[in-house]
Amino acid sequence: MRYDVIIIGSGAGGSAAAYHLTQTGKRVLVLEKGMPLPKDGSTLDADKVVRRGLFLADEPWLDRQGKVAVPEEHFNLGGKTKWYGAALLRFGPREFEADDRHRCLGWPFGYNELETYYDEAERLLSVQPFPVEPGLREIVAGLKRRDAGWREQPLSVGLAPDILQHPLEARHFDGFASVRGLKADGETLLDRVRHRPNLEILTGKAVTELLPHPHDGTRVSGVLCSDGTRYEAEAVILAAGALHSPRLLQTYLEQNGLAATLPCYANVGRYYKFHVLTAMIAFSHRRVSDVLCKTLLLLHDELPHSTVQTLGGNLAEEIVRAQFPGIVPGWLADEFAGRAYGLFLQTEDGSHPDNRVLARAGDSGRPGLDYDLGRVPEAAEEHRRLVRTLQQQLLRMGYLAGTRSIPITGTAHACGTLVTGRDPATSVVDASGRVHGMENVYVSDGSVLPRSSRVNPALTIYAWGLRLASLLGGKRGNHDGVSSRVDSVWA
Ligand SMILES: Cc1cc2nc3c(=O)[nH]c(=O)nc-3n(C[C@H](O)[C@H](O)[C@H](O)COP(=O)(O)OP(=O)(O)OC[C@H]3O[C@@H](n4cnc5c(N)ncnc54)[C@H](O)[C@@H]3O)c2cc1C
Repeated sequence: MRYDVIIIGSGAGGSAAAYHLTQTGKRVLVLEKGMPLPKDGSTLDADKVVRRGLFLADEPWLDRQGKVAVPEEHFNLGGKTKWYGAALLRFGPREFEADDRHRCLGWPFGYNELETYYDEAERLLSVQPFPVEPGLREIVAGLKRRDAGWREQPLSVGLAPDILQHPLEARHFDGFASVRGLKADGETLLDRVRHRPNLEILTGKAVTELLPHPHDGTRVSGVLCSDGTRYEAEAVILAAGALHSPRLLQTYLEQNGLAATLPCYANVGRYYKFHVLTAMIAFSHRRVSDVLCKTLLLLHDELPHSTVQTLGGNLAEEIVRAQFPGIVPGWLADEFAGRAYGLFLQTEDGSHPDNRVLARAGDSGRPGLDYDLGRVPEAAEEHRRLVRTLQQQLLRMGYLAGTRSIPITGTAHACGTLVTGRDPATSVVDASGRVHGMENVYVSDGSVLPRSSRVNPALTIYAWGLRLASLLGGKRGNHDGVSSRVDSVWA
């Protein structure tokens, strides 16, 4: 069967595009490399998820020194959204503009263009804030008393309103995958349309190549999967994530003589960003009684590219437990773990062309991830100030805080690599999501983001996916008699 659109990947961008396109009546095929996650409770099991990392990909890459690095990617239906903390936040209007002093590229359009798609994504994923819990409330009040620069904002999350009635899930959503479907994610969007006859979702299908049209390399005719199967379509959407979509495109352009002719080739894989991130564990003299924890966003007037949020549920507790060697008695590990608050500090990193993903690093045949924070020193400096400020202030309040900077293998917030822009000489996809110079190849994942802002990227990736699909497929209709009204997933 020939499809109208093949979507490679089912994470935030792929699922949003599939959700919309299916409702326009297009024949859509989603090819997902991973399998659906098990519903047997193992995705909530801290030993399997945190300590043994059983659900992480094991693909070896090479870093800029040529050493093997294994990015913490997730290959499963729904992609990384199955594991995310569901903090679903909009970028600010100013974060769509270039910021030369911080080395940030601009978007080809302003916030207003994405606003209706943000609205829709929030409704679809039932994004809402939860009441701030007492422990966090006390920490924030203490910080604000000491430093008038701190400001707080409710943190909107895509969690079922009754999640607190399911303690295991309420304590395990950030870094874990919901078994009962209490977290809105990419699979949730696919579930809403998967009954439609014009949508096919195939899992365990790793796309290895885009296939050229016999007479015109600027058109693709379909894709080839690692098991030798081929699928044909009028258009292909790359939604494999910021680490993987650029590899497919780079390989295609090189193998089909387009590297020399398409100016955008020079930008493929470049401007990789993943936020400058630090996990901070603050030990309280009291046991932590907050449950959700991820209820508030902290901003600081003097740190305009940074935010602080809490790690959700008991992720901090599990991180602390994982640090204790087996000889430490369980009760002692419990004492420490039960007093741990997890804070997640993020600063937008600037964009540098040499920070990049390579389909092949040298002659190794392995993909390469070349990233050096030294290339974006302004971000490094602001992040150092953020960590120092918070750590010192917490200490004065009686919280002893340890930190761990997230290394390049921490690819949770991977962005950039196929950035959108108007000029093919400086970007890869145009403002509508089509690869410059290609007739029918589009991108719908984190790789299009020229800026990643100071907050987590998933809501913006969903919004981009909805927008791309509505430009490509037009308005949704009432095809097979099912209403296309946009209701919250919990409605
Ligand atoms: C632990 C964790 C916590 C996070 N918390 C938050 C949060 O609270 N808020 C937030 O906004 N963001 C959060 N994120 C980040 C968020 O999950 C990502 O930004 C988002 O999922 C990226 O969407 P994507 O579509 O770009 O890629 P992905 O979600 O990674 O999806 C890409 C998909 O493509 C598939 N794929 C890859 N290669 C191929 C191939 N060759 N063929 C077929 N399929 C392929 C993958 O298996 C995957 O399913 C978190 C991430 C993690 C890991």
